[in-house]
Amino acid sequence: MRELIVRSIVLLIAVTMLNTTTINTSHAGTNDNPLLADWEGPYGGVPPFDRVQIPLFKPALEAAIAERLTEIQKIAGDPAPPSFENTIVALERTGRTLDRVGTLYGVWGSTMASPEYQTVQREMAPRLAAAEDEITQNEALFKRIEAVYNSPEKAKLNPEQQRLVWVYYTQFVRAGARLSPEAKKRLSQINQQLAGLYTKFSQNVLAEENDQFIVLKSEDELAGLPQSLRDAAAAAAETKKQPGAWVIMNTRSSIDPFLTYSDRRDLREKAWRMFVNRGDNGDEHDNNAIITEILQLRAERAKLLGYPTHAHWRLENTMAKTPERAMELMEAVWKPAVARVHEEVADMQALADKEGAKIKIEPWDYRYYMEKVRKAKFDLDQNEIKPYLQLEKLREGIFWVAGELFNFNFTPVTNVPVAHPDIRVWEVTDKTTKKHIGLWYFDPYARAGKRSGAWMNAYRSQERVNGEITTIVSNNANFVKGKPGEPVLISWDDATTMFHEFGHALHGLNSNVTYPSLSGTAVPRDYVEFPSQLLEHWLSTPEVLQRFALHYQTGKPIPQDLVDKIKRSATFNQGFATVEYLSAALIDMKLHLAGDRKIDPDAFERETLAQLGMPKEIVMRHRTPQFLHVFSSDGYSAGYYSYLWSDVITADAFGAFTEGKGPYDKAVAERLRKYIFSVGNTVDPAEAYRAFRGRDPKIDALMQKRGFSKS
Ligand SMILES: [Zn+2]
Repeated sequence: MRELIVRSIVLLIAVTMLNTTTINTSHAGTNDNPLLADWEGPYGGVPPFDRVQIPLFKPALEAAIAERLTEIQKIAGDPAPPSFENTIVALERTGRTLDRVGTLYGVWGSTMASPEYQTVQREMAPRLAAAEDEITQNEALFKRIEAVYNSPEKAKLNPEQQRLVWVYYTQFVRAGARLSPEAKKRLSQINQQLAGLYTKFSQNVLAEENDQFIVLKSEDELAGLPQSLRDAAAAAAETKKQPGAWVIMNTRSSIDPFLTYSDRRDLREKAWRMFVNRGDNGDEHDNNAIITEILQLRAERAKLLGYPTHAHWRLENTMAKTPERAMELMEAVWKPAVARVHEEVADMQALADKEGAKIKIEPWDYRYYMEKVRKAKFDLDQNEIKPYLQLEKLREGIFWVAGELFNFNFTPVTNVPVAHPDIRVWEVTDKTTKKHIGLWYFDPYARAGKRSGAWMNAYRSQERVNGEITTIVSNNANFVKGKPGEPVLISWDDATTMFHEFGHALHGLNSNVTYPSLSGTAVPRDYVEFPSQLLEHWLSTPEVLQRFALHYQTGKPIPQDLVDKIKRSATFNQGFATVEYLSAALIDMKLHLAGDRKIDPDAFERETLAQLGMPKEIVMRHRTPQFLHVFSSDGYSAGYYSYLWSDVITADAFGAFTEGKGPYDKAVAERLRKYIFSVGNTVDPAEAYRAFRGRDPKIDALMQKRGFSKS
């Protein structure tokens, strides 16, 4: 329901919570608060990033919430009989100030979160949630929405309008609009209790990521680590006040490379144990009891709302629709993936034996031997590819792809404010008509206060309720900024992520709808990763590689034999990647199908994985006590399967290109724009896909993409 309050949508690859420290904030008045003003400047107005001061957030949010609630009261108390126009469209027009303030507040939260900001965040998060409840529990308002939904007049509305009515009605019902006053009260209590537990869960994981680390003191302990890793560990040592030493932090971006390259098996085991036990150390940051409580409250809430389990409640409006269908897909992929893992382990064991290592492959050996097998099998060294992957050249590459697929043109813009000097902005126009389409903000570099990982954000949604409003989207990443004048080189994985996030941006930029609630990326969670995952496929097209994968010193394109090696190794290690992900997705779903019995997360995880036949050489990508996707909010709860669901559609959709004239087939691209990228949530995703592909997605392409045989 969050989208009813603040329409700004953030799509994440990795979810990492932010640090929180208490300091006092000063107050600022609401009079002339620049954050409340209409956006001024070109392109229908742009976010006033240059006018943000942290003390302005709280009064701005308070004023914007109050304004929104007044607008809602006005609609609810309208003496005229309820109609689509005076109820649903009126609702679409509310909350504009809160949208604007929420955008600025959200950008600061994800990219500029100082301790001063975090204090405001702790105070305002429950207040925003309470305002949300106040709207969905407004009896008179819901009666009007229900009347429009049940009115025979509804049939006269166009399909987009009918879908909008359905979205409002189902969202209100799903949030408890039809419950008795007592049940509503209990629901609110549960929501508030959960909000507190989510915060606690996140802070516990964060504390263990901050407080725990491994100090390396000698050359001997650095054995196997490439120079870039040593440099990063030395920099980390400075922040951890360990002068002259090297520090491996307890985060994925630090641990994974260490497990891949460290020759020291004892240290690999130590690092692995530290990382997989976050939130599970039996100390004051242990999350097990919190999980038990969250699961019970979620089960109670689902019952209150009339659903058998939390999973059934969460999946109702998704593409999968039922947990059973999501489970069916996961189980179909699970078996071949596990079989592949056994093959991968056999390969690694053989290599270790040949080297005379005298070991049995354990989870802390997987990434290390996987890299050795990659080199042995494909003669492919990841470090060989990097010199050809310059950040700025690849950015030109994604622009070029957008031009080929959607006829977009990108022009740099310098006359709009940005939150930080590293952020750059481009205007997007149609190549032929020169018509303005939107703005694309690019924030590529890591800095203090910025969340790790990569994501897309919509600062303003395309819509036509208040005249032609164009969209403003952003892509955010955490590349390490190079020295001035030196190109930033990135890995193949990072290049793939760039194309992925740009896919989300294109989903927003192509939007062509009337109502903001249905715009761009506002689609079900198990569908939203489809456009982004699809775009990943264009990175490896020869057209992109020959033009944009250029050596940073010689300017020569990446050699064909290296490209061939990348292609040949495309399905390498898919057993590990799939099982690591899928075990977490299965545990997530099973936890939320278990009903209201009291669950001991440790035992549940152990027993369920044993029943599934989890290979003992792999651990879940996110173990339960650190599963932020699932326990830091409702967001991805019973929803971690979404990435796989979307990938089935993605793999099948790319087939439409390969069966045609290839990735740049204009006719297929036009169908993609028409039926997928431009429609937002105005059409049921299953129908939209059928319109594009002429049939439902089949699982075969996914199996092929991952190198699994169907069983
Ligand atoms: Zn994504």
